[in-house]
Amino acid sequence: MSAARGVAVVTGASSGIGAATARALAGAGFEVVVGARRVERLREVAGPIGAQALPLDVTDPASVERFCAEVPECRVLVNNAGGAIGLERIEEADEADWRRMYETNVLGTLRMTRALLPKLEASGDGVVVMVGSIAGHEAYVGGGGYNAAKFAERALTRALRLELLGRPVRVSEVDPGLVETEFSVVRFRGDAERAKAVYEGLTPMRAEDVAECILFCVTRPAWVNVDQLVVLARDQAGASVVHRRPGPEGA
Ligand code: NAP
Repeated sequence: MSAARGVAVVTGASSGIGAATARALAGAGFEVVVGARRVERLREVAGPIGAQALPLDVTDPASVERFCAEVPECRVLVNNAGGAIGLERIEEADEADWRRMYETNVLGTLRMTRALLPKLEASGDGVVVMVGSIAGHEAYVGGGGYNAAKFAERALTRALRLELLGRPVRVSEVDPGLVETEFSVVRFRGDAERAKAVYEGLTPMRAEDVAECILFCVTRPAWVNVDQLVVLARDQAGASVVHRRPGPEGA
């Protein structure tokens, strides 16, 4: 394995930001390895860009171990697998949903990072990018479980940055606001109408917009660490502050 820029691993690359990031990294000369649970979807992403597609469930330690054993070297790790489940207020919170959000966004990120860190360091210029969220900066009504997970993911990121100081591994977080992906369909448990309403009357970002930010972080010179990049749609000025126009979406 030795593309010009080295090997980049992207978790949660079967759709959305992860898929767009895999394409962006491959386009920039990285040898890309992608992981997710929906392997057929993953192969559709990987095929056209010559990436390696491997099954991965970041909530399952054995799956993470198998995946990482297949990656002999690694220069970039994009911890993107994650998402939200539900929009219930705390008084109605379902613990199973909270546990899943924590398992995916926080412990999944921990597992992948811990497993690949020796290879990232051995590359001489490793980069770990966490895909966080504006939800990790600001709480909002109904966001409790997702806020808790994304705040925790940011805490992990800050601790990692401090712990790796002096070693050749950079740590970046890219924290987007509204991006139109499968995120809301997953959040609303497959309710496509409810998911569509999230973006009604405004122009959200596209997955490619976030992928470009991630690519920016990993293509800076080795001595430059982009610590934190918060990126929102022009129509969004805070976690729950959006501007919607009447009429067709984004008109
Ligand atoms: P998406 O289209 O739903 O993509 C989520 C990806 O994560 C999928 O590829 C999914 O693949 C993967 N995934 C979920 N659980 C996984 C698991 N246990 N193991 C491995 N992969 C898993 O949503 P997205 O918007 O691209 O989300 C990507 C990241 O951006 C997430 O961390 C999300 O929290 C963050 N984010 C999104 C937005 C937004 O508005 N869209 C805003 C801020 C932050 P499989 O289902 O095939 O496993």
